[in-house]
Amino acid sequence: MPMPEAKPDAGKVDLSGEIPVSGGEPGDTLGPIAPSRLPCIDAHIHVDLYPEEEQDALLRQAFEHGVEAVIAVSMDLASSVRTRELALRYLGRVHPAYGFHPEQEPPSEGEREELFDWIRERHRAGEAFAIGEVGLPYYKRTEVEAGGGSFDETPYLTLLESFVALAAELDRPIVLHAVYEDADKACELLAIHGVKKAHFHWFKGSTRTLDRMAEAGYSISVTPDIAYEHEIVEVVKRYPLRLIMAETDGPWPFDGPYKGQPTVPAMARESAIGIASVKGLDVSETAETLLRQTRTFYNL
Ligand SMILES: [Zn+2]
Repeated sequence: MPMPEAKPDAGKVDLSGEIPVSGGEPGDTLGPIAPSRLPCIDAHIHVDLYPEEEQDALLRQAFEHGVEAVIAVSMDLASSVRTRELALRYLGRVHPAYGFHPEQEPPSEGEREELFDWIRERHRAGEAFAIGEVGLPYYKRTEVEAGGGSFDETPYLTLLESFVALAAELDRPIVLHAVYEDADKACELLAIHGVKKAHFHWFKGSTRTLDRMAEAGYSISVTPDIAYEHEIVEVVKRYPLRLIMAETDGPWPFDGPYKGQPTVPAMARESAIGIASVKGLDVSETAETLLRQTRTFYNL
C-alpha cells in the first residue's frame, strides 16, 4: 500500500454480488473473451488488512471467479503470522511474503531480530514464501519534508539492506515498495547483495530509473489505476512486458472507473486489460504472459 498511515477504510466488502470487472460489455475490445475468463494472479495484495471475517469470502470468491492465486504480502511480524495462516489454509493459492512495510515507524532491534528469526525458521522448514513488503518510506518522508521538517532515512536504509541481505542469504524473491528516487537506492542495495529477483510493486519513477531497473532484470507490477493515471501509462509504455505483473494492492481503493468499489483480487484483470491496451496487444495473450511471469518469478 502506498500510504498505510492514511489507511483506507476498506469498508464492508460486498462479496455477495458480481465481481467488479469492466470491459465485459457488448462491443468492447475484448471480443468473445469474457473478462472473468482471463487468466489472472494478483501479484500483490494485503489479504490480512481486509476485515478478518471477510478474508475467506474474499479469497473463495476470487478463486471461484478464476483467479489462480494471490501473492499475499505482510506489514510486520503479526501480519506475517496471519498471512502464513492464510497460506496454509489455501495451499498453492495464497503465496505468502514476509516482511516489514516501510511506511511506518521502523521496528526496534529486538523486533527486527524476532521477525528475521521467524522468517529463517520458515526457511529451515522448507516453506514457500518471498520477502516483502519491504522498502523505503517515500510517502512518509516526502510528507515530513513538504512540511519543512527533516527526515532521517538511515534506519530505513539499514532495515532495507538487512532484508535485501536476507533475500540473498535465503535465495528468495523480494517485494519492494520503493518509488521514484527511492528505487535507485533500492537498486544499489540489490546490486551490492547480488539479488536478481526483485519485484517493485506499483512502480512509479523516472525513465532513467525505469531503464536501470529493466537493465537489471527487475520486475514491476501494475494496479488498475492504469485506467486513469497517465504516469502509469507512461511507465507501462516504456517497461518491457516480459518484466511486468498485475496486482491490486488491495484493500487499497481505486479511483476513476473503480471509485466506490471494494478492491478484490479479480481486479488484477483490469490491470492486464490496461497493460494490453497501452502496449497495443491482444488482451488474452497479455493476461497469459503476465500470469506466466508471475508464476515464474514466485516459483508457483
Ligand atoms: Zn502493498
